[in-house]
Amino acid sequence: MIKQRLQERFLRYTAINSQSDGSVGTVPSTPGQKRLAEFLKEDLSKLGLTELCISEKAVLTGVLPARLPVGFKGTVPKIGFVAHLDTVNVNLSPEIHPHLHKNYDGGDICLNEQKNIWIRVSEHPELKKYVGQDIFFSDGTSVLGADNKAAISSMVVALEMLCENKALYHGDLYFAFVPDEEIGLCGAKAMDFSKFPVDFAYTIDCCELGEVVYETFNAGSAVLKVKGIPAHPMSAKGVLVNPTLVAVDFINMFNRLETPENTEGKEGYIWVKTMCSNPSEASVLLNIRDHDRVRYEMRKDYIRDAAELLQKKHPRAAVTCQITDIYGNIADALTEKNRTCISYIYRAMENLGIEPKTIAMRGGTDGSFISTKGIPTPNFFTGAHNFHSAAEFLPMDSFEKSCRMVLELIRLIAERG
Ligand SMILES: [Zn+2]
Repeated sequence: MIKQRLQERFLRYTAINSQSDGSVGTVPSTPGQKRLAEFLKEDLSKLGLTELCISEKAVLTGVLPARLPVGFKGTVPKIGFVAHLDTVNVNLSPEIHPHLHKNYDGGDICLNEQKNIWIRVSEHPELKKYVGQDIFFSDGTSVLGADNKAAISSMVVALEMLCENKALYHGDLYFAFVPDEEIGLCGAKAMDFSKFPVDFAYTIDCCELGEVVYETFNAGSAVLKVKGIPAHPMSAKGVLVNPTLVAVDFINMFNRLETPENTEGKEGYIWVKTMCSNPSEASVLLNIRDHDRVRYEMRKDYIRDAAELLQKKHPRAAVTCQITDIYGNIADALTEKNRTCISYIYRAMENLGIEPKTIAMRGGTDGSFISTKGIPTPNFFTGAHNFHSAAEFLPMDSFEKSCRMVLELIRLIAERG
């Protein structure tokens, strides 16, 4: 029965185009996200949530007030669940047309007959784990959007179950649905935390069955700007300062072994992401990532020193460098006391017979920002594979387990109280 409900919800929410757009600079970056927030608000109001509110930045928040046995004297932690409204823009169609492939036989699957798009077992051997299951796929022209609409669906279906079964006790449950996660956690950053007064929270924003994440990168960016001195080549000697070459000198100061393509696990990096130049100015954008806070700060110091050195080397150019922190490592927000939010995840998995796979994520979640606000926010699986690609797929059994995790966490935490 849960599966049927999840399928309906998933189709309902993926039908609304809510792709975010990093080039816009506003929050929400696209009107579809606001539309989805409004749609969801309607759904949630039918399930007993109160204080439902959509902020100007399209952050939807609400609370399901506690329901505890009569005469209950203890205290139950206030917990939060966070999902993002946007789907990622990776130059695929913003319109998502999922279809449920029944009883997968272990072979290659044609996602789109008209366009002859296939998902091949040779390229995606992980499919083999799901023989005999029903699996959601996209039509090959877009992502599937399980990132993060599987999470939204799991939360809503869990609320439906709580709404229908009055014997299920729970503490105060806060929900936040935020836009623009995929373009720098902008929605989480726009949250009004007075509407989210929780002891800890969960996101459901990573991949396959069993995944648990409470370590993410510390993330920042640096923008170097160089103003050169343009001149006509016939009279350029001793006059021209070429900003392109100055920018190249800067790029050459970085270790070519500490790049995304040469690192893995908990190794950090600096990614020279873009460089733009013309005869009068140049700019370089760097992404800085490291799980370790001290090493992350050292990378920032190194970039500052490199910019200073660059200025000394090219005294007639004007060099500026701006460094911005984007999010932190969830693990840095954990203390002996608040680590219980993670123990609950493992307990819930044990009770549901799910084998945990704990990973240090080479990225961030909304929780990476929310945790820096003193609300530890670990993350667990949606059940989907291949986020951010047309090969994204979501096996129904894993999807159901993700939803059952929400219910089991709520139950466990109420019981502990
Ligand atoms: Zn996501």
